[in-house]
Amino acid sequence: MSFRATVLTLYPEMFPGALGLSLAGRALEAGSWSLEPVQIRDFATDRHRTVDDTPAGGGAGMVMRADILAKAIDHSSPPGDVRPRLLMSPRGKPLTQQKVRELAAGPGVVILCGRFEGVDQRVIEARGLEEVSIGDFILSGGEPAALVLLDAVVRLLPGVMGNEASGDEESFENGLLEHPHYTRPPVFEGLEIPAVLTSGNHGKIAKWRREQAERLTAERRPDLLAAARDAGKT
Ligand code: SAH
Repeated sequence: MSFRATVLTLYPEMFPGALGLSLAGRALEAGSWSLEPVQIRDFATDRHRTVDDTPAGGGAGMVMRADILAKAIDHSSPPGDVRPRLLMSPRGKPLTQQKVRELAAGPGVVILCGRFEGVDQRVIEARGLEEVSIGDFILSGGEPAALVLLDAVVRLLPGVMGNEASGDEESFENGLLEHPHYTRPPVFEGLEIPAVLTSGNHGKIAKWRREQAERLTAERRPDLLAAARDAGKT
């Protein structure tokens, strides 16, 4: 059974969107994964198909109703569905490559995309939703965040990446940012490719890349180096 993604949203037209093209799009066509957008509004009960209401306690904006969302979730992910249920949310645990790898190793995912001020807290608890953030900034809705998460997961699915090996040296896979890349021409606006890369000495090249990765990580993301040290990786 291939990886199955269900996305609960008020904007199903946003899917597959960017994921219908390139690597993810070809994998979707080939059946390496599947994507089912579900219109939350279809589970509304009134004539106007209302999904939100004013926040209890007052204040600006609207909140997505727990009862409507629960119906949408129960329909799309009935008991027995073992896929994790995620809620895209700036309050969630920041998404990491490790989490992406865990998801890619599983049967799929059910993703709820918030809109307005967010969703009623009770549906998060009652349906065991795991909140996931894609960074410390606020989007207008969970859809772009869901696309980001799925893009990261899909490229790890078996057979999706043409060059499997290129996955291992990627930024974050070994706790470091990746080394710089170069290709033809040998001289660009007076700038040369570092000589070691054209030396043909693979031991030296590997050493240089490792050093560059460590230097870049120390400069830009000292937090990653500290985490790698704590995990006993360096
Ligand atoms: N009032 C909320 C923000 C709501 S933004 C707050 O201050 O926390 C509307 C929706 O966009 C959210 O429900 C969530 O689904 C999505 N969203 C916004 N920023 C996000 C982020 N950084 N990561 C994941 N989802 C996000």
